[in-house]
Amino acid sequence: MHLVGIDVGGTNFRVGVFSGQALLWEKRFEADFSALCRTSQDAQASIMETMASAISEAIRVFPDIGAIGIGFPGFIDPATMCIASSPNLPGLSNVDIAGPLSVRFRLPVIVENDALAAAYGEQVLGGHESLIYIGLGTGVGGGLILDGKPYPGEHGVAMEIGHIIVDPGGRLCGCGNRGCLERYASASGVSISYQEQTGRQLSAKEIAGLAEAGDILAVSAFDLAGDRLGLALSHILKVADIAHVVVGGGLSEAWHWLEKPFRTRLEADLIPVLRGKCEVGVSKAQDRAGMLGAAELASNHF
Ligand SMILES: [Zn+2]
Repeated sequence: MHLVGIDVGGTNFRVGVFSGQALLWEKRFEADFSALCRTSQDAQASIMETMASAISEAIRVFPDIGAIGIGFPGFIDPATMCIASSPNLPGLSNVDIAGPLSVRFRLPVIVENDALAAAYGEQVLGGHESLIYIGLGTGVGGGLILDGKPYPGEHGVAMEIGHIIVDPGGRLCGCGNRGCLERYASASGVSISYQEQTGRQLSAKEIAGLAEAGDILAVSAFDLAGDRLGLALSHILKVADIAHVVVGGGLSEAWHWLEKPFRTRLEADLIPVLRGKCEVGVSKAQDRAGMLGAAELASNHF
């Protein structure tokens, strides 16, 4: 029996077919979820159609699929598995995609927060019983695994670290508050930092290229991102006391620009008893942790 794991991002989603931990097939599908999710009514049908055709493709290659897991960037209601809302997809409100997909494919389908699914994938791959995963992508996501089990929280929003306020009164966030971590330490946050300094609107990837070429303002955009991430993580570690942290997501490719300001701030802000005791590293899963975690969660759920 094979499992399907799906990792949804802002502008695309990836579908993987797994046998145990082995990824047998993978395909990336372009999909502009903010356009698909303008209103809740449109969102359910649009997400369904987009995902169903991708899942059908996987099933054509591997007809013996046993369950489907989806990691979605939003708050997932743990009681209903509905996507309650998503700060970066404001049209979404209480959308059920697991139920209709399950009926359509006659297979068990689960939906979990994308970062929590990635955290679980990292746990399966890395073996640490407890860990925190931080996903630096379009936004900033977080997932906590405690004693081998994903911890979604009572409202499905545990470890929403992207919305820890690191600059009170600062940049406006999609959640409605100001100064949230993801407005500084995500790909879009780095773009905003650079634009504020230069007036130029560039992607984080382009800004990383400029940093390599010696652009001081590009370096300082990453400095701010790393510093704010270190600040947020120091708070989290003082609450959760977890020894292993894995950083993934597209912006983690620029980790060498984030790492120094991140570690400087983290060590300074931790309480002495925790200094030097937390291992933080970039994911070695080459971006498959989200798909694997979603697939494994689906298999565990039934
Ligand atoms: Zn926020």
